[in-house]
Amino acid sequence: MMIEPFELNLESIQVLSDTTREFRFIRTDGNPVTYLPGQFYRFSFQDDKGSFVRSYSVATFGGAVGRSERLDLLIAYVKDGRTSRYLFDSDADELVQSLGCSAKGPYGRLVVPSRMPKRLIMVATSVGLAPYIPILNQLDQVMKTDPVTVELILGVRSPDEFIYADKLIEYEQGHPNFSLTVCYSRQMPGDEDVQAVSGYVQKYLRKMQLDPLGDHVLLCGNPHMIDDVFGELKIRGFGVRNVVREKYVFARESTDSKKTVLSEAQKRLIAEKLAQVRGKQGDG
Ligand SMILES: Cc1cc2nc3c(=O)[nH]c(=O)nc-3n(C[C@H](O)[C@H](O)[C@H](O)COP(=O)(O)OP(=O)(O)OC[C@H]3O[C@@H](n4cnc5c(N)ncnc54)[C@H](O)[C@@H]3O)c2cc1C
Repeated sequence: MMIEPFELNLESIQVLSDTTREFRFIRTDGNPVTYLPGQFYRFSFQDDKGSFVRSYSVATFGGAVGRSERLDLLIAYVKDGRTSRYLFDSDADELVQSLGCSAKGPYGRLVVPSRMPKRLIMVATSVGLAPYIPILNQLDQVMKTDPVTVELILGVRSPDEFIYADKLIEYEQGHPNFSLTVCYSRQMPGDEDVQAVSGYVQKYLRKMQLDPLGDHVLLCGNPHMIDDVFGELKIRGFGVRNVVREKYVFARESTDSKKTVLSEAQKRLIAEKLAQVRGKQGDG
């Protein structure tokens, strides 16, 4: 099926921490935004240098599962980043008045499996938390009828980076089968409302009792964390069947119409492969 882009207007901005903001968009055509919780869209922005595309996970919470009027994004500031400059350095009121963009999607496989496992483990670093926000909305329904246990393991550097703390703590209090662990890599919190541990999520996972037959793992955020954790999980008997990865890799300077440029070595390799295929066809 052909995926058609749609237009969005920015409706509001909420500051969540020094480096993180929630951007709320509304579709201009009045249709709902539809997605599987956990998926992302590709957004096309326009700045003074032209158009450019970046991917962002849907971070909408509340309302119908996977269908909403609004589209919330959770975005972290990146120094010298093109989107970051555009979304964080402009005057917020002016941006709300003027910002429009288009979105194409949804994309991605970081979703709740159709057959629930015994335990769903969701691991994130920083804004890698974003896709789990609508997933928690979905699990609110699922946990009413399914005995699944859900664990969310979030890696941040310091307490000020623990965004949506109130929302997540309230969710944990209302869902006995859900638990939240925050791994602080630089600075531990003073008073702890959640299970807080010191160190990277990798360290915490290494100590966990894991069951490749009953656990299903979702990983999102920093690509190094994901490679490390996946390496550890493979040693413990997991594979692509029960681990889904979503790496927040940085976009290369991309515009809407970038062409792929092949290196000489790549061109040679393709020519060789074509020659081999033609040779085989000639033999037959
Ligand atoms: C599937 C997918 C979903 C994503 N979802 C989200 C999301 O929900 N929220 C979110 O904030 N981001 C998300 N990202 C990352 C996002 O697409 C951008 O890459 C990010 O916002 C940086 O864009 P930028 O234009 O500000 O920086 P760019 O102009 O792309 O980068 C500028 C410079 O900063 C470096 N850089 C870029 N990002 C980082 C970083 N995180 N840490 C250190 N250096 C960096 C680049 O290498 C480059 O040198 C997602 C990425 C993918 C692939």
